[in-house]
This record gives sequence, C-alpha cells and structure tokens, in this order.
Amino acid sequence: MSGTPCGGCGAMLASGIRLCHDCTTTLEYHLEQTVDVWANLQITLERRDVGAASVGLGGAASAVEPLNLDAHDIGYTLQTILTGWAQHIPAMRPASTQPHILATWMRQPAQIKLIRGMDWAADLIGELEESLNKCREATDRSLERISLGHHSTECPGKVRAIAGARWGRCTECRERFEAATQHQWMISEAWHVTAPLPHIIRALRTLHVFVKPKDAENWAARHKLISCISDDGAKTYQLKQVYDVHQTMVAKRERVAAQTKLKKQARLDAQPIAA
Ligand SMILES: [Zn+2]
Ligand SMILES: [Zn+2]
Repeated sequence: MSGTPCGGCGAMLASGIRLCHDCTTTLEYHLEQTVDVWANLQITLERRDVGAASVGLGGAASAVEPLNLDAHDIGYTLQTILTGWAQHIPAMRPASTQPHILATWMRQPAQIKLIRGMDWAADLIGELEESLNKCREATDRSLERISLGHHSTECPGKVRAIAGARWGRCTECRERFEAATQHQWMISEAWHVTAPLPHIIRALRTLHVFVKPKDAENWAARHKLISCISDDGAKTYQLKQVYDVHQTMVAKRERVAAQTKLKKQARLDAQPIAA
C-alpha cells in the first residue's frame, strides 16, 4: 500500500498528506485557542506592569504556581514558534508577527491545506500545544482550574485542567486526559464533585443540560444551592445539586406552562358560541 503516515498518530494516509483529519482538527483547535491565550497573556503582562510587586510571593502551600516573571519569555516562545513555521508555508503571509494574527491566518482553509502536506505539520502541533499550556499557566486565568475528579483507585492523584484547555493531567502520575471526555465521566459518575458555578454550568453544557448563568446565580442567592468554600476562598457548588435544581425548575416551568394553556383553553371554551 502506498501512502504516507500521519505525523501525529501514524494512520496511513493518501500519498503526500501528513496530517489525518483528527490531527488536523487538533491543530485547528490550538490555532483557534491561540487568540484567547495570547490575549490573556497580554492582559496579565499589562496588569503586572501596573505594579504587581507581590506577584510570585504566594505561599508555598498555594496550589497555583507562583506567577512567573518569565511570562514575557513564554509569550516570546509562542511568537517564535508561529513565525518560524509560518515562514515554511508557501503562501503570502501577513506582515505582522503577532501570534493571534499568524494563528488566524494559519487556520484559514488555504493554509491548513498547505500545512497538511508538510512533513513538519505534527511538530507544529506538539510545539504549539506545549507553548499554549505554558502561556495558560503563566496567565492570571491559570487560577481558573477545573477539577475533574479523582484519577483512579490505583492512583491517589486528582485530574485538573486549566479552563479552556483541551487536556487535563493527573496531579500525581501526570497521565493526560481529554478534558471533554473527563467532563462526561465526571457528570455521570462523580456527582459529588464541586466547582465554581461557571465551571459547573460549562460542564453540564457538555451533557446538553443548559443552565442559564443568571438562573444559577438566582438559585444560589435564594439558597436553593448550598455553597462550599474551597481552599482558595472561592465559592463552589455541587454539580449534582445544580443539576437537580435545574431539573426541578424545568419541571415547574413546564407545569406552569401547561396550566396556563389549560386555563386559556377553559376561558375560550366557556365563551358563548357566536351564532
Ligand atoms: Zn493523525
Ligand atoms: Zn494519576
């Protein structure tokens, strides 16, 4: 059989194609994320310039790694990776060397098509993913960590992901998990898991349970949801409880709608029939 293997996963592909459909989706995902990650990094750097003298002095017990003074270097690495590979794409490039501009350009179908033919396509994915994760950890948003439950009965670690990242890792053995898959598992198995409201709403969304943030805030304010306080002082809620309240509210809403409809029907029926 003639053909070339996918640089990412080794699947055999038609001759000259170096990236399978799945690995291409991964690349597109990382390029899309680059825009957000870069923006967050810039915000973090700006804030720091404004006088975050105490940055990095968090206690040793802090779960969050000290906010590095090398966020600049990390951002520069991302820029270098993108400008470097962009030069190898045989197409008209944007004049800018800004990561978000280059990533947006690379994500266009014409460029993706060219990249899929390059023997370095998988290297780009690997380097980009590693660099984006470092950027995420260096930004203030790294505080937004999602807990994805315990690893397994064999490993005492917990699976954690940074909000928005595709992969999470076990805190002990460092095994990697796809965040979305782990979310699904968390919802079906680990109902006791607690997290800040926005994270729970996001997690439930992956199961097609759509809770409006305003509603959830309302339930919390009316003590339909009981909050816990996590180590870092943030309010967290139980996933199962949010789900239960949502189901109750949906049922109630349906009941009210049905009653309104019946009453309306009754009023119409009670009207004398016009001759
Ligand atoms: Zn592949
Ligand atoms: Zn583990």
